[in-house]
Amino acid sequence: MSRLIHSVKRSLPFIFFAFVLLCMVYFTPKSLRYLEGLIPMKKCPFAPGEKLKLGDGIDASLDLWSRVDVQTCTEWGAPLVWEGMFNPDYYDQEHRKNQSSVSLTVFAVGRYLDAYLERFLISAEQHFMVALPVTYYVFTDVPEKVPNIRLAPRRSLKVVKVQRHSRWQDISMMRMKTIADAIESQIRHHSQYVFCFDVDQVFADRFGSEALGDSVAVLHAYYYHRPQSMYTYDHNPRSRAFMETGDFYYHAAVFGGKWQMVKNMTESCYQTIMEDKENQVEALWHDESHLNKYLWLHKPSKVLSPEYCWTNDIGYRGDIRKTRLLWAKKQYDMLRITK
Ligand code: UDP
Ligand code: MN
Repeated sequence: MSRLIHSVKRSLPFIFFAFVLLCMVYFTPKSLRYLEGLIPMKKCPFAPGEKLKLGDGIDASLDLWSRVDVQTCTEWGAPLVWEGMFNPDYYDQEHRKNQSSVSLTVFAVGRYLDAYLERFLISAEQHFMVALPVTYYVFTDVPEKVPNIRLAPRRSLKVVKVQRHSRWQDISMMRMKTIADAIESQIRHHSQYVFCFDVDQVFADRFGSEALGDSVAVLHAYYYHRPQSMYTYDHNPRSRAFMETGDFYYHAAVFGGKWQMVKNMTESCYQTIMEDKENQVEALWHDESHLNKYLWLHKPSKVLSPEYCWTNDIGYRGDIRKTRLLWAKKQYDMLRITK
């Protein structure tokens, strides 16, 4: 007995050390994220053979059951697009037949132009809707600094001068108004679709016609595995962006759709942003909070997986088979000097 007590006593420091080590591994944010990665997403609520309720004719070709590790459709019957579910050539061919064309809007105001615009555009030429005609709309306060990028045939670039708001929050939020105006005055005359992007990103793989739809939003890379209680919706009842529950947490760095839908989306967000300003409140995540509220009330007809707006900072995730668009590094201290 005494020998047993003695050996337990001798191993106490080791047991303690192992316990501390385990706690450290368990509670670091990275390992927590890894554990989250093991939690499968909710499954598509449709039975095999059942049709999607939303999406265009081409979306009927999506194989919702080719990915059993992720959710491939929403509760309201819209597709949720992941690598492996679609045939890229078929999508391109059908959209060419339909003569689809796309406008891409991007803002590069102040220091964001030098920091990101060139890489964004060069990578878009390699990966964004390569099969289709594309018109880039670059909104900037310094048009003369927009780099001269070599564009493929049937692709063009327009530079639009915009005012520079002094607060970065306003630069971000006021994009909604500028996009709505550009759709009304120009885009609707030549493009059926519009996609709106943050500039601090780089295309890294196909971002193609499978992403087109009536109204399209992308799942935020940091929240798609998390429970709804962790979504950073605006929880202030005084803001028009206030919401207690929702469907997903969408990332405002990418959204799009048919021009009519994007016009509604951006006009509506602008209106709620302005109402907040009148009431002297600002939503937690600015335009992103307003966009989330809008998309909760007006469900998107297509949702894109976080492949379409990913960051490698999250580390390895088995369900991310392609990283199509990556967040660029942020140097907020350098970028967000307001003057
Ligand atoms: N933006 C800009 N200049 C600024 C602030 C923002 O051009 O001073 C544009 C830019 O396109 C940027 C987007 O607004 O990508 C959103 O801002 P940011 O990327 O800083 O927001 P975050 O991704 O951190 O939410
Ligand atoms: Mn951004």
